[in-house]
Amino acid sequence: MAVVKSDIEIARAATKKPVFEIGAKIGIAPEHLVPYGHDKAKLSAQFIRSKRGARDGKLVLVTAVSPTPAGEGKTTTTVGLGDGLNRIGKKAIVCIREASLGPCFGVKGGAAGGGYAQVIPMEDINLHFTGDFHAITAAHNLLAALIDNHVYWGNALNLDTRRVTWRRVMDMNDRALRDIASSLGGVANGFPRESGFDITVASEVMAILCLATDLQDLERRLGDIIIGYRFDKTAVYARDLKADKAMAVLLKDAMQPNLVQTLENNPAFVHGGPFANIAHGCNSVVATTTALKLADYVVTEAGFGADLGAEKFFNIKCRKAGLQPAAAVIVATVRAMKMHGGVAKDDLGLENVAAVKAGCANLGRHMENVRQFGVPVVVAINHFSADTDAEIETVKNFVAAHGAEAILCKHWALGSAGIEELAHKVVSLAESGSAQFSPLYEDELSLFDKIETVVKRIYRGAEADADASVREQLRQWEAAGYGHLPVCMAKTQYSFSTDPHLRGAPVNHVVHVREVRLSAGAGFVVAICGEIMTMPGLPKSPSAERIHLNAQGLIEGLF
Ligand code: ADP
Ligand code: MG
Repeated sequence: MAVVKSDIEIARAATKKPVFEIGAKIGIAPEHLVPYGHDKAKLSAQFIRSKRGARDGKLVLVTAVSPTPAGEGKTTTTVGLGDGLNRIGKKAIVCIREASLGPCFGVKGGAAGGGYAQVIPMEDINLHFTGDFHAITAAHNLLAALIDNHVYWGNALNLDTRRVTWRRVMDMNDRALRDIASSLGGVANGFPRESGFDITVASEVMAILCLATDLQDLERRLGDIIIGYRFDKTAVYARDLKADKAMAVLLKDAMQPNLVQTLENNPAFVHGGPFANIAHGCNSVVATTTALKLADYVVTEAGFGADLGAEKFFNIKCRKAGLQPAAAVIVATVRAMKMHGGVAKDDLGLENVAAVKAGCANLGRHMENVRQFGVPVVVAINHFSADTDAEIETVKNFVAAHGAEAILCKHWALGSAGIEELAHKVVSLAESGSAQFSPLYEDELSLFDKIETVVKRIYRGAEADADASVREQLRQWEAAGYGHLPVCMAKTQYSFSTDPHLRGAPVNHVVHVREVRLSAGAGFVVAICGEIMTMPGLPKSPSAERIHLNAQGLIEGLF
């Protein structure tokens, strides 16, 4: 058997083109690209403004079945499909999220795709890249510093320091910082209080950057951030601390989309990376809307399975940015179907048609869900070498019986040559004009009813349930003028229920809303159902132990 090359070996062997050539392919003149080295560039704000009136291409969402520890390959398929569309003569741009350092040094590995469907330079994209996440970290922590400084100098706003909700962030998995006491050490250091750190991707600043349409909108949203409450329980905004303008200054460059290339030298925007639980989990609105002005097709990814990722992509991002998706690709793997059908991870190597058949219930549910938004679906079976013909046929037959098509895709092994059929299918779906997108609920619905709509129609639960205090909090926000906001569901990605072990397609479960949070700057209300981690920890043997520089000074161990 041929030796399988690692992602980084494949990425390093690629023949890269200068970023100006990649820009030229989609009509961006060199003066509108701000280069970061030879293979990365930011798009100028002026260029983005100049495209405002242009016609939009077709938007294609890549989403997936409920994730399993076996891995599904959404990013890999997003990148592969972008290359596949270019291969069949369409002008296509890939739009994906930036990587976070935390998971990179933990377990997840890279976020630039895999095999022969990757964006490059993967080392940069997975590490410091163009510094966007560092800028977001700095802007977030500037606000935190201004809060404690305000209290130190007399607390004119009468902020109740026990009710400061704005924490600090860093782009690292570090459980030691989840809960901290700050301002220790005596009078000169201020007033001690309890606080903690979240990972940068969980920062509301990240969500804001990804939903803002331009720098003015960014500044307005930063001002709208609620940092805590006064003794009389009224909200204190970032604007009250005069933090918004300086934060926008720190984020000026981070707001501009990053242009890179795929292994096949096709354009890709890699920009923004909000968490997919307490935030909406998609790349920036600016990257997506700009790409739509420059290409026939824009292929983008939403985090987690379709119950979380696609739901938020539709109900939050598309609603807010006025996007009209033309088609959705649901990534499924034979391995994931087996796990949803009850097979343990260690037994995935054995053929098990019955388990695949049972597990397809999970896929079927996601297909129905996406169609509820008026978006036509095609299933991409991301091929793994251990899949058997009988298992693949089982998935295809299931999908055909549910009125769609499942197409075997070998982009991971073969690049664009392995995904032509899917590319053709996506084009015919998008050109058919059958999409009639609309979000699942109206802005006017009450906040609790919005939560319950998602619970019943997407998770197929019996009901959403919450303590009186949670319901009262939602009513207060409605009274304060936040009732029109969409909800952002934070729940385990592994199940339609709140029990991560309940795979497949459970029904009639109760979804308990434990806590609600208002992200007033980002513009959504987070409903926390179950335990949600906003600062991950590292595993016993983190990837960091294996990441190193070789004798040539090249990075090894980033997979
Ligand atoms: P997601 O975006 O769904 O989290 P990724 O596309 O990042 O998943 O893929 C996760 C990992 O799985 C990557 O390391 C990638 O190289 C690997 N992978 C994806 N598709 C395949 C495949 N068909 N065969 C083997 N490995 C794959
Ligand atoms: Mg991904």
